[in-house]
Amino acid sequence: MSGRFLSIGECMVELSQAGAGLLRKGFAGDTLNTAWYARACLPADWSVEYFTALGDDAMSDEMIAFFKEADIGTGFIGRIKGKAPGLYMISLKDGERSFSYWRDNSAARQLAADAELLREAIEACDVIYFSGITLAILSRNDADTLLAEVRRAKAAGKLVAFDPNIRPRLWSSYDVMHATISEGARAASLVLPSFDDEAVHFGDVSISATIKRYRTLGASDVVVKNGAEGATLSFDGVESFVAAEKVEQVVDTTSAGDSFNGAFLARYLETKDAPGAAAFAAKVAARVVSEHGALVAREKLGLKTT
Ligand code: ADP
Repeated sequence: MSGRFLSIGECMVELSQAGAGLLRKGFAGDTLNTAWYARACLPADWSVEYFTALGDDAMSDEMIAFFKEADIGTGFIGRIKGKAPGLYMISLKDGERSFSYWRDNSAARQLAADAELLREAIEACDVIYFSGITLAILSRNDADTLLAEVRRAKAAGKLVAFDPNIRPRLWSSYDVMHATISEGARAASLVLPSFDDEAVHFGDVSISATIKRYRTLGASDVVVKNGAEGATLSFDGVESFVAAEKVEQVVDTTSAGDSFNGAFLARYLETKDAPGAAAFAAKVAARVVSEHGALVAREKLGLKTT
């Protein structure tokens, strides 16, 4: 089965320490990371599209070139005059990473302002992926536009996948965050939360409580990721558990959940075997946490060559 996978959100310029006071430039962001791993894991007859907004500056041009190089479609990316991409910097102190962000005024904040382009993209694709971060960066009006469009996609029978990816700092208040993330989940058919976030921010006492909450909201399927403790799935009400892979040395957990999502969706779309797809995703995520950086090259993911 071939198809089109659409990921919606913000990709930022990433600056990381390269030694001797130098900085290395890269590109990353939760939904772009998932698109990257979906691209790496999907067969060649699937296309992967990224939906965002960029500016008209050189950095936006470079980002587009980077997506193209990665075989990620750019046909639905709007360009906004006078805008630029968001940026974050990774600092290292005593082996601990910390992040500084400059994204308040990024072009991606207006990704849903062009409602026509958004509808065109969603209508053209078979699988839609977005996250709590995608919703958090939008104005209330634009978040409503996005939610209405993904609801249409779900009603049309498309797979709509949502990772709550809870980042309190991006939200104006806890109440708005809880309400909007719940709306995101309600608009989705599959929710892919991380248990530690859900326990802290929604007060879930167990993985079953997380599954129950999202199913009650209207998502028929839920995959709760729980780091090295594995993942618990509920598909059409049937629960299963898939262990994480053993990792010799965890180098960098950035993008663990994003890579799991991309690999899971890719395999699930091919096989419709959710536990099998989760076992595959656990393998890919284990490779990702064994390497530096958010975007690990396909050759390092241990995938069969196609
Ligand atoms: P997030 O990055 O969203 O917080 P998790 O930490 O739950 O997500 O990790 C997502 C997946 O990555 C897990 O379900 C697991 O398969 C894998 N993973 C994460 N950390 C480890 C680890 N230390 N060892 C093995 N696998 C891991």
